[in-house]
Amino acid sequence: MTHFSAFSLLKQALNGHKGWREQWPDSQPKAEYDVVIVGAGGHGLGAAYYLAKEHGITNVAVIDKGWLGGGNTGRNTTIIRSNYLYDESAKLYDHALDLWDNLSQDLNYNVMYSKRGVLMLAHNVHDVQSFQRHVNSNRLNGVDNRWLTKEECKQFCPPLNISPDARYPVMGGALQMRAGTARHDAVAWGYARAAAARGVDIIQNCAVNAIRRGPDGAVIGVDTAKGFIRAKKVAVSAAGNTSVVMDSAGLRMPLESFPLQALVSEPVKPIFPCVVMSNTVHAYISQSDKGELVIGSGTDQYTSYSQRGGLPLIEHTVAAICEVFPIFTRMRMLRKWGGIVDVTPDRSAILGKTPVKGLYVNCGWGTGGFKATPGAAHLLAWTVAKDEPHPLNAPFTLERFTTGRLIDEAAAAAVAH
Ligand SMILES: Cc1cc2nc3c(=O)[nH]c(=O)nc-3n(C[C@H](O)[C@H](O)[C@H](O)COP(=O)(O)OP(=O)(O)OC[C@H]3O[C@@H](n4cnc5c(N)ncnc54)[C@H](O)[C@@H]3O)c2cc1C
Repeated sequence: MTHFSAFSLLKQALNGHKGWREQWPDSQPKAEYDVVIVGAGGHGLGAAYYLAKEHGITNVAVIDKGWLGGGNTGRNTTIIRSNYLYDESAKLYDHALDLWDNLSQDLNYNVMYSKRGVLMLAHNVHDVQSFQRHVNSNRLNGVDNRWLTKEECKQFCPPLNISPDARYPVMGGALQMRAGTARHDAVAWGYARAAAARGVDIIQNCAVNAIRRGPDGAVIGVDTAKGFIRAKKVAVSAAGNTSVVMDSAGLRMPLESFPLQALVSEPVKPIFPCVVMSNTVHAYISQSDKGELVIGSGTDQYTSYSQRGGLPLIEHTVAAICEVFPIFTRMRMLRKWGGIVDVTPDRSAILGKTPVKGLYVNCGWGTGGFKATPGAAHLLAWTVAKDEPHPLNAPFTLERFTTGRLIDEAAAAAVAH
């Protein structure tokens, strides 16, 4: 593996960039692993990396039915924040933010984490009350978040329309300055490269068709497109397909899978300095380093496993963006796409052990799991290595849907990008 340094960059620049070696080998499966991770998104690859780095477990395979990072990791709008209402969520997402801080250095790979600030707009009295409650709760938890008047919002984000005549008038906003964006592909590639360097096998184009259990009910491995692979432990981190994979182990998950869409405009010069979200109109926007406006919407109304969505939702989102930012009315949109997100009834993740011995699950991140990537990966690795949850993910059990100890971010925000 090539180590990135100023010297290696200079050397490659001088020889026409012909000497770069592959970033990770395209592995074929071995007969047996200590841990098999289903899903090579940021969460699965990151978990493999932390298993190797922090727990010395390197006989690990990460298996994906497609190419690594081709799921939601490579399809999302990259909003990173930790200003969730409930203590459990705020701590979990803030743990992820702490890891984002040094991720580029840790992986020796620039994930382009940019703390440009996320502004969440309030358009009605309910929004104002709800976001102010979030601000207070976050500050009690040591999470940065502050309330801005509409004039302060405009100052922070000049393209914003704060006219009282607007269809969705801005009444203020909650600003988390430590929040921002990162480059999604780089996160997957950085984790893949660093995990492979520690001995992890990354096996692409190899669907896991079933989780196999032994006579005592414990996991013994996975049936894949490339044959049976024996494993002492299996961790499923398959985002929108989790319920299908878990069903093969006999576990019915409290999940629904929805398409979630995003779109980008033609590239323009830097005009948009931050990330703005509007839960009420279900639209959010930032500008990528290439100059495209990156716009996201809410989930489609129906469940589906197709990685595309309906046009009416996109039309609604674009209409809302034009109301809030009339300056963009004449922008042309370049392309749109969709991903499949898995949503739990309380809109919080499930991260932990399952009733099946040797089987672990990380899912239910819905529309907002990119921001959690390093945290979820770190905690999944801990849970698998120690066969018990870390205190931070202990509340995010599967059992909470039977015990009733919900972490009800659905009631708190109704949206979680
Ligand atoms: C349009 C859109 C916008 C979003 N915006 C944001 C945002 O702004 N901020 C944010 O925090 N989150 C956002 N999200 C959510 C976020 O992308 C996800 O929660 C997060 O990326 C999940 O990461 P993951 O590694 O768990 O899943 P993924 O990256 O989806 O990885 C799961 C992998 O499992 C593989 N897989 C599935 N089934 C099988 C099988 N049977 N066998 C083998 N492999 C399998 C898939 O191919 C996939 O590569 C958005 C999502 C979408 C779709």
